Amino acid sequence: MKIVVTVKLVPDPNAEKRMDTATKRLVRTGVDTVINPYDEYAIEAALQLKEKLGGDTTVTVFSMVPETGKETVRKALAMGADDALMLSDAGLEGSDVWGTAYVMAQGLKKVGFDLVICGGLSDDGSSGGVPGALAEYLGVPGLTNARHVEVADGKLKCQRETDNGYQVVSGPLPAVVSVTMAVGEPRYPSLKGIMGAKKKTITVMPLSELGLDRPVGNDGAKTELLQFAPPPVRAKAHVVNAEDGPSGAKAIFDFLKEKKLV
Ligand SMILES: Cc1cc2nc3c(=O)[nH]c(=O)nc-3n(C[C@H](O)[C@H](O)[C@H](O)COP(=O)(O)OP(=O)(O)OC[C@H]3O[C@@H](n4cnc5c(N)ncnc54)[C@H](O)[C@@H]3O)c2cc1C
Repeated sequence: MKIVVTVKLVPDPNAEKRMDTATKRLVRTGVDTVINPYDEYAIEAALQLKEKLGGDTTVTVFSMVPETGKETVRKALAMGADDALMLSDAGLEGSDVWGTAYVMAQGLKKVGFDLVICGGLSDDGSSGGVPGALAEYLGVPGLTNARHVEVADGKLKCQRETDNGYQVVSGPLPAVVSVTMAVGEPRYPSLKGIMGAKKKTITVMPLSELGLDRPVGNDGAKTELLQFAPPPVRAKAHVVNAEDGPSGAKAIFDFLKEKKLV
């Protein structure tokens, strides 16, 4: 079984995000690039499935990212994935959700897959739209928000997180599934994994190999960012300097009572 995990590279979530006012794009230079945190959970789900299924199951990392992201993609290989494919091309710059999903779908058709596992949300774009759009472009079932993924009798079975609990849903393969952080803590790469990743293959595929039938990148974007604004600055916290523990506890209690929180 061939499992493909989609991995987006994003600016370090711990770094301050800055927008370029001229291009209205996120500034990605001068900030460390990391694997989108959600996608580490997608990799974990894929590796768990590979361990369970055994046999000839493979995990391929799939990323639409400039070639400069190669060493960050290698970190996903150090976690245990078998190989990686990067869609890298200057013509992809300015891709919106529609363009991203369209190009990724064409790349996925080229590499082939039984199951595509995506993270639920990127830390930068945060639309959550890519997994659904991918399933649509690939013409396969799209299951979202899965906290547990299994494959049995050639079928995909997932527990979908809901506000009240979870639903058990299943569908035929090939399929696309997006996962939540409840699939299990992503494993740390072992020393053996890090050393082994140096020898694993990362294929870089340019747009010319995809045989696209419509414009992509800036020219193909169907959406335009019209305006953006920083979130309102929060008022400074109210600091109480208590003389000792008991009076500090009373001050907290009085504050919560005044706010009708206790
Ligand atoms: C007009 C316009 C121009 C833009 N130009 C750029 C640009 O030049 N560069 C840029 O980086 N962004 C650009 N963006 C943002 C870009 O549209 C989104 O980052 C991209 O479409 C993915 O959407 P998302 O981040 O909301 O992903 P989500 O839908 O939130 O991601 C969900 C999951 O999908 C998968 N996924 C998403 N994107 C990728 C990817 N690239 N590779 C592998 N897996 C992925 C991951 O598993 C992720 O966890 C632009 C947006 C607009 C509207």
